[in-house]
Amino acid sequence: METATNHEEKLGSTINLTRDMQGEALVMMVDDEALVIELTQAFLEDAGYKRFVHTTQAPEAIAIMLRERPHVVLLDINMPHMNGFQILERMRANPLLQYVPVIVLTSADDPDTKLKALELGASDFLRKPVDASELVLRMRNILAAKAYHDFLAYYDRGTGLINRQRFLGELERTLLEADTAARMGALLHIGLDRFKQINEALGPVSGDEVIGEVSRRLRGTLQAQAMPGRRRGDKPFAGRMSGTEFAVLLPMISNQEHPARVAEELLRALARPCQVGGKDLHVTASIGVALFPADASQLDDLVKNAAAALQEAKSAGGNSCRFYSKELNVRAVQRLNVEEELRRALERGELRLFYQPKFLLASNEMNGAEALMRWQHPERGLVAPNDFIPVAEESGLIVPLGDWALNAACRQMQEWGVAGLRRVPVAVNVSPRQFRPELSGVVGAAVAATGQADFLHLELTESSLMGNPTAAISMLGELRDLGMRLSIDDFGTGYSSLSYLHLLPLHELKIDRSFIATIVPGKGEAVLVDVIIAMAHSLGLTVVAEGVETQHQLDYLRAHGCDECQGYFFSKPLPATEFAEKYLRGA
Ligand code: C2E
Ligand code: MG
Ligand code: MG
Repeated sequence: METATNHEEKLGSTINLTRDMQGEALVMMVDDEALVIELTQAFLEDAGYKRFVHTTQAPEAIAIMLRERPHVVLLDINMPHMNGFQILERMRANPLLQYVPVIVLTSADDPDTKLKALELGASDFLRKPVDASELVLRMRNILAAKAYHDFLAYYDRGTGLINRQRFLGELERTLLEADTAARMGALLHIGLDRFKQINEALGPVSGDEVIGEVSRRLRGTLQAQAMPGRRRGDKPFAGRMSGTEFAVLLPMISNQEHPARVAEELLRALARPCQVGGKDLHVTASIGVALFPADASQLDDLVKNAAAALQEAKSAGGNSCRFYSKELNVRAVQRLNVEEELRRALERGELRLFYQPKFLLASNEMNGAEALMRWQHPERGLVAPNDFIPVAEESGLIVPLGDWALNAACRQMQEWGVAGLRRVPVAVNVSPRQFRPELSGVVGAAVAATGQADFLHLELTESSLMGNPTAAISMLGELRDLGMRLSIDDFGTGYSSLSYLHLLPLHELKIDRSFIATIVPGKGEAVLVDVIIAMAHSLGLTVVAEGVETQHQLDYLRAHGCDECQGYFFSKPLPATEFAEKYLRGA
């Protein structure tokens, strides 16, 4: 529950923030005399202010304010073409400038002028020539008062999130900017499911605690989303719209999957049990999403559309997300279905590993296999990785799925060993999200339980290795110490920095299928393939060609020194029994 003290703490920190903000505060000066501007700026710089805009052309003042959004304006009254009163009047009539504090500067010190300025909404009044210490004092008071006003007017006391009014103001501004810059964004309207029951069962104090926790999770999820280096106005933010409703604005999205992903992450974050009064509570939410400009470009319509989508999400039973656009809705629902089903697939044992043999080019001898995942879906039949791995990657399910594959491959090899079949190494794919410090523990346990350390190989992608090179080097080192052979998969499709490829303890490089496809009769040399083979060899790596489909490709690769290959020319990936029957018998 909100207590007086923590309210004051928040308030205090807001005001302090404003004091530190002295350096951040954007001060605008409107004066027809350039010299006055220069002098005033010099005073303020001495006091720690750093950011200024100014104009000597009164008629331009409003346009500049709308563009620059100053935190405080120093306004001269006596100017040609348009006087300060007129500017003040226009500011107060404009919802975007209505609350910007204005200090009026004038040489006329009569009570009428003062009174008129205050009536028109000036925040303070200073006589010219300006006394430096007086100015600095007034500025500080005004910024502090503004912070206090903002806090009361724009922040929700219970959560510290911005309130509905402020959120809508920011949304309006974002819509204007998006329109001029032709950008896309998304509004997510979030409602807590069945919150009334919680409040009734546990009382309002616990209810407030839950609300506090919900807003922390909203913020945390958005912070994890925000990419460094983004401009301030591009950052996603959250607001509290009413008792149990929140909203999130994504001011800039690159595609339509983006809001779906954020919504999923928010749902997941909110669904985690929440400790209140020693009890584990399960609070879930529903989310309605409307895109701008696709679904609406006007504030009211957008808000209405997001609310309509939220209603649909709620009527679907909660803990889900709906898009306003019917077409996107279908896709989002499908994605969520796949995710749900995939979770169950793991529990119900619907996943399989298929095995595709690899061959030595020098002898045409089979010398290993790659394990490739398939999903034996009860209605859809055999589903290929491209139809479920991406969803698993995005939802994080790839981690348990990948762990399953590692263990399943080891158990399969152990079985083949026990059956007295030929022993060959099996390579398992490791996705970027699996490539984390826990991986060596998982791999270590899988090989220890089955005794397959010498036979398990791992295939890693370029993006795993290049994201955080230092961490990658140490993780690869741990895996190598476990006895793993390590390959870099789909080579050529990512952005490997060759300069540090030689620092990585790798054994093998797999040339991506797309390069092999360029080996076509009559097309001359496949230069990139040649370069990759030469480079890999110079780094001491074994080279494997993926996706070999023709005799011509096989001949070319053999003639150009490639070591191994894999592809439909030899065999498609096969179910375990078929693979064993064909390749492991008669060892
Ligand atoms: P990948 O690791 O590059 O696997 C090779 C893919 O190329 C496989 O597709 C294989 O069936 C296909 N392929 C092999 N030879 C040929 C050929 O001659 N022509 C053509 N057109 N394709 C060929 P698949 O099984 O559909 O798997 C696709 C991708 O899904 C894999 O690419 C891998 O990145 C991912 N994947 C599969 N299983 C797992 C897994 O257990 N864990 C993880 N993290 N990813 C997996
Ligand atoms: Mg692979
Ligand atoms: Mg590959």
